[in-house]
Amino acid sequence: MYFLERLYFNTNYNMEFSINETENKGFTKIEKFNQETTEELMFHYKKVLELLGEDVNREGLDKTPLRVAKAMQFLTQGYHIKPEDILRSAMFKEDYRQMVIVKDIEVYSMCEHHMLPFVGRAHVAYIPDGTITGLSKIARVVDAFARRLQVQERLTTQIKDCIQDTLNPLGVAVVIEAQHMCMSMRGVQKQNSITTTSDFTGAFEKVATREEFIRLISTKTI
Ligand SMILES: [Zn+2]
Repeated sequence: MYFLERLYFNTNYNMEFSINETENKGFTKIEKFNQETTEELMFHYKKVLELLGEDVNREGLDKTPLRVAKAMQFLTQGYHIKPEDILRSAMFKEDYRQMVIVKDIEVYSMCEHHMLPFVGRAHVAYIPDGTITGLSKIARVVDAFARRLQVQERLTTQIKDCIQDTLNPLGVAVVIEAQHMCMSMRGVQKQNSITTTSDFTGAFEKVATREEFIRLISTKTI
């Protein structure tokens, strides 16, 4: 069996990335990470482990600083992506002027206060004014903003602004529901609380349009 796993950053990043290939037992993994940044992060994560009271030389932690260095770069790759370019890469002229909804987009982000994950779903809608975009691009825009250190409120607004400013539709609506690990695992330790944020422009300022959107994202259709 021969596998290729590619972790790639899909738009113009302005950093030099080196490609590392590791091969073991028929599994070839190709990853792109900035070598210098990875080494620097490894050095610091090793220190962090020591400060937390760990023995960094024990077998289980041998490659942990390297893994964390890569994981953190993956989880913050949004800094090197321009979400507007994602939309611009697939814009089409189309006369459709009804609501387009992409719902239940998985959101994996990290709160900027604790660097702990918050996980949930985003529902995004827009009403085109002559221009539509590829549906997958909406999900990619969500990812590009989510893979940064964030607060849910700003994430919601950034997605809305990006779509509004790039596609110039008649309106944009974004709702995000998420569970924050900094609330579940620490602090008030509320395991089941969900935070909901929303932001709207244009046509969605009208109550009837907004209610239609809320109704459509609330119904389970599949
Ligand atoms: Zn937090």
